[in-house]
Amino acid sequence: MATETPDLGRRGFLTGRLAPPRDAVQPPWTRFEKLAAACTGCGACIDACPQAIVRMGPGRWPQIDFSRNECTFCGKCAEACPEPVFDRALPAFPHVVSIGEACFAVRGVVCQSCGDACPEGAIRFRPRLGGPALPSLDADRCNSCGACVSTCPADAIVMAAPLVEAAHA
Ligand code: SF4
Ligand code: SF4
Ligand code: SF4
Repeated sequence: MATETPDLGRRGFLTGRLAPPRDAVQPPWTRFEKLAAACTGCGACIDACPQAIVRMGPGRWPQIDFSRNECTFCGKCAEACPEPVFDRALPAFPHVVSIGEACFAVRGVVCQSCGDACPEGAIRFRPRLGGPALPSLDADRCNSCGACVSTCPADAIVMAAPLVEAAHA
């Protein structure tokens, strides 16, 4: 697999495309540099996803939308891609889940939807005096599937960009 960092400015000039957005969640087993270097924007990964979570983002860069569904790690997006964009040797997603202040439980309303939805048991609820139990994320168990993001009725959970993406590229 190529590991060199592409000249994104020159490539963008040649293709007429801006670089992929850094704050978007890229398809599983892809990274910013691989996408920028090899993705042609053909949309094959989008058509292949049975969960309909791969969307065409700005600049014709595919990105993941966890708002309505989660990733099942079926691999169909990677199988469909005709370019060397996907690397199944990588962890699928380097992103980390973040539960924000909009959480119903934080605001005093009982809710454990994310914990119920999580297939990895990565969200536990800590009892507290004077209010509903609060969600607590065990990042080591989380595989970034997005089930909690799509389930949360308060839209309180986001998939945050990795701190050091280059380490996974
Ligand atoms: S692994 Fe499957 S569910 Fe996940 S984005 Fe790819 S096609 Fe969609
Ligand atoms: S599903 Fe959303 S609102 Fe409910 S406890 Fe989890 S983060 Fe809070
Ligand atoms: S992203 Fe998936 S594994 Fe991680 S906490 Fe949410 S539901 Fe659980």
